[in-house]
Amino acid sequence: MDNPGITIVLLLITAVSLTCCIILWWRLTAQGKKAKAAHASNKKEHKEILTKTQAERRELKLLLNAFDDALVITNASGIIQVANEAAGKLCEGRKLRGKSISSTFLDHQICEHITKVINSGETSKQKIILSSSSFGKLNANQRNTIEESAWIIDYAPLPTTAINGNTTEPPLHRIILRNVTTEHRTDQVKREFVANASHELRTPLAIISGYLENLIDDDVLESPDVSRRILTTMRKHSERIALLIDEMLIISKLESGDAAQLNNEPFVLNETITTIIDRLSPLVQKQDATIAASYSPDQIRLIGDSFYWEQALFNIIENALKQNAQSPIHISINASVCSENNQVTIDITDNGKGIPSAHIPYIFNRFYRVQKHHSQNEVKGTGLGLSIVKHAIESHGGTIIATSRPGIETTFKIICPIGTERK
Ligand code: ADP
Repeated sequence: MDNPGITIVLLLITAVSLTCCIILWWRLTAQGKKAKAAHASNKKEHKEILTKTQAERRELKLLLNAFDDALVITNASGIIQVANEAAGKLCEGRKLRGKSISSTFLDHQICEHITKVINSGETSKQKIILSSSSFGKLNANQRNTIEESAWIIDYAPLPTTAINGNTTEPPLHRIILRNVTTEHRTDQVKREFVANASHELRTPLAIISGYLENLIDDDVLESPDVSRRILTTMRKHSERIALLIDEMLIISKLESGDAAQLNNEPFVLNETITTIIDRLSPLVQKQDATIAASYSPDQIRLIGDSFYWEQALFNIIENALKQNAQSPIHISINASVCSENNQVTIDITDNGKGIPSAHIPYIFNRFYRVQKHHSQNEVKGTGLGLSIVKHAIESHGGTIIATSRPGIETTFKIICPIGTERK
């Protein structure tokens, strides 16, 4: 390198190349940083979107599962796309997504109805009564083992835009299945009650109006004896109407299920029973019957509604007398308190004709009587007495059972908390 000119040129070239390299390196580094930053930001964005989607899904799932009612969404062919937990439970936890309606709800009535509404595409809400409550179960043997059940099938087509923003797709279908068995049974009970009550009220009314016609049309008024007999019978039947109305009102109050409606005051059971025995003493004397009461401890204090307690115990004791009008029966009342669990047990036993075992399961039902046919002059019981007893005891948190060996011993056993004062 003797030539300084060449040396300078070479130095210059080297310096320029180095500068270019540095600039390139700097640019590449800057670009790399930029790309890295962009990638990181993309990754963050993606992560955020993913988290948001997951949260939305969770919310949606929570929302769907918050429904007590079973909800399924199907496509146009009836294939389930979405089902909530309640729907899964109804079908014994089987996976429902991707399944057809017919393989999900095995009851043909339900399937037929759902298929029909899906095909019609028109919003509908219909009550369906099934002979079992297990329409979603796989095991056909389990069906029909449970009493009938009632369901509301609520159907509506869903606008698909709301789901995926694409209107050209066939609509989805939303089906809600609501179990209304309890309401259905309550309605049935109400209907039966009204039918029975009208029948029970109509019978004495018909008798009274028949006798009234006799009094008006015939010459019976001229015979004081016949008139008195007719008027006495009419009075008995009008008393029966009044009794029926009173008892129906008591039942309706007890059935309202509002415990706050009951008084919650301390009272002495011995005094209540003594009052009942006094009230019944004319009947006891007339029938030559005897009543003995024993208490352990000597005085039993309860807290509750003494009116309903008296009504319940009166009905049981009066029944024993009423049902054995021809025989001088003995009634024993044994009441004791168990201090360990603060429960009172009251056994009311008579040695009368008793109740045949086939009738025992039904005697607490409203309007149920073992002997259904009575003569017109003999006024039968209302059939509401034991129903009131059961409601009154249950309203106080207790239970009552009846056992009977006809002709030997019939016992009504009440077990009930002694009660605590309401705050
Ligand atoms: P009723 O108004 O007819 O007395 P209840 O509901 O009080 O109605 O009683 C239902 C039925 O239970 C009665 O019709 C009667 O046949 C039967 N029964 C209740 N208590 C006795 C008893 N101590 N002995 C025999 N039968 C009874």
